[in-house]
Amino acid sequence: MSSPNSYRFVWTDAAINRDTNNLVSAALELFRNGNVSVTTNGVAAHLPRELPFEHHGYGQDDEWVAANFTNATEILAVGYPQWVDAQVGEGLTNGLFKLSVTVTDDPPETTSLTVGNLSVAVTNAGEYVFLLEKGPDSSDHVVAHEIGHALGMEDCYIANKRFNPPINIAGMGDPISSQMFDDKGHDWGLESSRGFYPVHETIATTLPQMVMYGVDAGGSHDIPSGSVYSLRRNAKASNQTFSSKVGANFIKVDITEVYSR
Ligand SMILES: [Zn+2]
Repeated sequence: MSSPNSYRFVWTDAAINRDTNNLVSAALELFRNGNVSVTTNGVAAHLPRELPFEHHGYGQDDEWVAANFTNATEILAVGYPQWVDAQVGEGLTNGLFKLSVTVTDDPPETTSLTVGNLSVAVTNAGEYVFLLEKGPDSSDHVVAHEIGHALGMEDCYIANKRFNPPINIAGMGDPISSQMFDDKGHDWGLESSRGFYPVHETIATTLPQMVMYGVDAGGSHDIPSGSVYSLRRNAKASNQTFSSKVGANFIKVDITEVYSR
């Protein structure tokens, strides 16, 4: 039995391990928004999909703008859709583009709409507007980054901008040290006082040099050897920092998984 927003699978008196004394009736319902409902012998459990960011039932409102843009004050002075219109050009090969996503009906439950590195919790029908950038400078980084994922490497982050104020990596502005790198011999050098990266760099300026940093920051595009100190993608506090597998040591010989982000 299926409804438009879900697929439901039902087992009635299924014999576990073909043991007719061990019968189970169960149902599994998969919802389009990622939720799952499981019913076993009459006991139902609803497993809501956890959205990858905090939401308060908002659409692309002022709160969303404030959480996603450092120049939110400037944007909100004119309104977000109007600000997007003012940024984009017409007939550009490269430049800023406007993407509108129209949700015609209220989603049955809060649903995450993600475009690039912007996400919004959609609870209402309406038009959702995104500002996209296409440029020749970013393509090499993006291609290398996505190949990195395909080979098994992870993202590294310095901030989760879905919060206002953003949650930043612990020690963001601190000078870098060997502590940032797991493979100190290859990624820093064997002398603890001197590294391959200039010592005036900070954690916040070093991570964007990695290929596995999600945004092209210009400059070098490094693939280190080992893990690098990084903020977890969905971090809700700055102490959710760990070593991210952004290095060549993690490239798989046999590719068995495909990563899309
Ligand atoms: Zn990525």
